[in-house]
Parts: sequence; C-alpha cells; structure tokens
Amino acid sequence: MTARILVVDDIPTNVKLLEARLMAEYFQVLTASNGEDAIALCENGQCDMVLLDVMMPGIDGFEVCKRLKANTQTAHLPVVLVTALDQQEDRIKGLEAGADDFLTKPVSDLALVTRVKSLVRLKMLTDDLRLRASNGDQLAMTHYQVMQEVGAPKERPNIIIVDDNAASYEKMVSILSTKNNIEVETNATDALFRIVEGQYDLAVISLNMQDFDSLCLCSHLRSLERTRTLPIFVIAGMDQEEIISRAMEIGVNDYIKRPIDNQELLARIRTQLRRKRYNDCLRASVQQTIEMAVKDPLTDLHNRRYFEMHFSSLFEKSISAKKPLTAIMCDIDKFKAVNDTYGHDVGDAVIIEVANRIRKSVRNIDIACRFGGEEFVIIMPDTDIEYAHVVAERIRREVAEHPVIAENGIKQIYTTISMGLSSLMLEDDSPKQLLRRADLALYAAKRAGRNKVMTEAA
Ligand code: GH3
Ligand code: MG
Ligand code: MG
Repeated sequence: MTARILVVDDIPTNVKLLEARLMAEYFQVLTASNGEDAIALCENGQCDMVLLDVMMPGIDGFEVCKRLKANTQTAHLPVVLVTALDQQEDRIKGLEAGADDFLTKPVSDLALVTRVKSLVRLKMLTDDLRLRASNGDQLAMTHYQVMQEVGAPKERPNIIIVDDNAASYEKMVSILSTKNNIEVETNATDALFRIVEGQYDLAVISLNMQDFDSLCLCSHLRSLERTRTLPIFVIAGMDQEEIISRAMEIGVNDYIKRPIDNQELLARIRTQLRRKRYNDCLRASVQQTIEMAVKDPLTDLHNRRYFEMHFSSLFEKSISAKKPLTAIMCDIDKFKAVNDTYGHDVGDAVIIEVANRIRKSVRNIDIACRFGGEEFVIIMPDTDIEYAHVVAERIRREVAEHPVIAENGIKQIYTTISMGLSSLMLEDDSPKQLLRRADLALYAAKRAGRNKVMTEAA
C-alpha cells in the first residue's frame, strides 16, 4: 500500500521540490498552500501523513499541528514540521505542539525519505492496532485515552547506549541523564544479551564502533521477539548516508548525525519514547479487548463465546487423532435459595468461589467455562471418562467440604454442586450430542439427590 503524503507550504517552489522527491519514492502526494486547506484535507481522511511548513501567513504550522492533534478525526496522523535551520527553538516548540518529527531546511533527500518512510511504517502499525482495539467492543481505549496515559511517563525511561568511544557516550550521558536512567555498554556482543535480557525503553547505538558492524546488532534486535518493538536510535558519522539508509531499511526508528546537536538529540529521543508509550498502551488495550471478549467478567473463566469457538475444533481434533475427550457439565445445587437467603452479592461470591475451585483442579489443556448463571462446563481433551470422573469427584468434594466465606468472613455458606459427564463416542457423535448427554447425566445427578457426579448412561 502506498501512503498519501500531504505537503503544506505557502511557497510553490518548496511544494514542487518536496512533491518531486516524494513521488520519486512512489508516494502519492497531495498539496496545500495554507493551514485551512490542509486541515480540511486531513479531516476528509485524504492523507496518511502531513509535511508541514512552519512559517506560513494566516495560521502557521504550529497552530495547524495543534488543531490536527486536538481533533479526534486527525489526531493519529503523523505530522512532520519543516523548520529553518537557524530556528533551534522551533523544533522544541513543534514537538510541544504535538508534531511527530521535524525536518530542517534545506531538506536533505536522506532525511526526507527515511523519516517519511519510518513514520508511514509506524502509522500502518498503529492503524492496525487501532483497528483491532476498536473491533472487539466499545471498551477499547480511544486515541484520546491512550494519549492521556501517554502524556507523562510514569517512571524515568531506561535507555541503553551502545558505543565504544568514551568522549562520544559521555557527552550523550550528560545530555540524556537528567530525564532518563542511562546505561552504557561498550562491547557490541555483550550489548545484544544485555538488551534482550533487560527492560529498556530505547537503545541508542553508535554506527561507528571499532571492529564491529552495528547494523548486525540492529538487525538482530529487530528479529528477536523480545526486542522487536524496542525503539532503536542510531548515531551516525557525517558521511554515512548509505549506512543510515540501510539502518532505516532494517527497521531502525531514527538517527542523528555527528556532531550531535544537544537539542535535536533530546527532542528526537523524547519523540521515540513517547511513541513507544503510545504503542505499548495501544497494544495493552488490544490485549485487554481480546481477553474481555472471551472471558467471563465475574469469574475470569472463559465465557460461553470462547467455548463455542473452541469446542468443535477440540472435538474434531480428538476424532481425527482417535483420542478420548470428556465433557463435564456442572451446576450449583439449590442456588436460588442462596440468593434468596443471603442476597445476590453473596450469591456472586459463591459463584466466584466455585469457579476458583474448578480452575484449581483442571489442567492448562482443559477448557473451563462459565456456561450460564450458576452453570459451568469443562472440556477435557485426551481424557477418558474414568479419569475425568476422578477429577470431577475431587471438585465436588472441594466444594462440599469447604464453605464459601463471604462478607469479610462473617458468613460461611455451605454449598454443593452436581455434575454430569459424557465422553466422545467412536461413531456418529457430534459436539451437540456430547453436551446433551452430559446435560442428561447432570439431570440424573440432580434427581438422585444432588451433590453427585454421574456419568452418561452406557
Ligand atoms: P438446582 O439445584 O435444581 O440447580 O436449583 P437451583 O436453585 O440452583 O436452580 P435454578 O435454575 O432454579 O436457579 C438458578 C438461580 O441462579 C436463578 C438465578 O436468579 C440465579 N443466578 C443466575 N445467574 C446469577 C448470577 O450471576 N449471580 C447470582 N447471584 N445469581 C444468579
Ligand atoms: Mg513558509
Ligand atoms: Mg442450580
């Protein structure tokens, strides 16, 4: 997918120049000559990223950036501010306005292409996460909630610098250590292990190590599961354009060239750390959404939806592997009376406790679900009915012999459960029939006086 880049500048020749360079890299380019038009194009969802000139008549670049970032429809669009070389403080101001990156005029080809590419890549990743976060259900975090979480770091970020030149790393330590915890590693081979095992928020890697190809380290870090999402920032020499390009291809997040400009280093590192927090937050939100979709909120067991999704595939697997499979249906006895006597909250506490005792007795490969109100189902792959009976008996005893403690220990509620078991039959069986037989066995257990485990009629 090719990205659509919006170039905003009041001077037509500047627009033409950037447009030509971006089109040579096969980006689609849209243009605007003022802030209002730029905002309208963004709101209409016509671009994936904005290159924004700071100095414009009317609303300037900072203001455009602020408005884009304050608007839910456009806040996720990466914005790159284009500032003049001598306007050092503009970069800081730009980042404060919420810009994702900045470029300095005259814009070098390398800087333009690498930064645009890396932001486009980042946006694709973030779009994907946002999509997944919003698919699950409404509970997923919005961009705004994520931004609020991201606002200020909870703790000082941990940064590791990999560099064997003392003068070089000492300078970076002095710049970065006011806001971050800094560690230095001078041996590139040790660096890999240290980063993989550590808890870092960012790695700063020098591309000028003696006798060592730093790109090798970067590419290792990108390929390992543990460090795949770790931001990598490289420090390059003046004339290392080609190596920087290769570093960006490998997936390095950003670079700076020597001699290091203190302000620029600080600003770029800060941007990388903020982006990492944003993505971590989004990732956690996606994870939470996924879990919520398949978990029962009261007991934290799997819910019925999860059961429906996995039961038939477990069933099919057992059939084709000719392995046994047993289902246990389980229901709390006379539960209505618990609610009527002690109230709904105590009833809930009983359900939770029964669920906990079930959870403790099953293996990882089993699926234990809350099937409905006070009903549970456990599917035990690779398990025959005799063995499942032993497990069910253990759960039944666990429940019957130990009361549920509710209301901070004031109440002790004795409760029992009944269970019905059924096993996969060799011929003409289906998930539905299997469950139905377990249900019939459960019904038999109830009729036989409750607090019993019954297996299906042979
Ligand atoms: P039996 O021994 O035949 O199973 O009797 P029972 O009273 O357990 O069965 P019945 O199906 O008549 O009652 C189940 C009750 O469970 C009715 C319902 O109000 C209650 N219930 C269902 N879900 C919940 C819940 O999430 N929390 C609480 N506290 N009660 C619930
Ligand atoms: Mg201008
Ligand atoms: Mg019941």
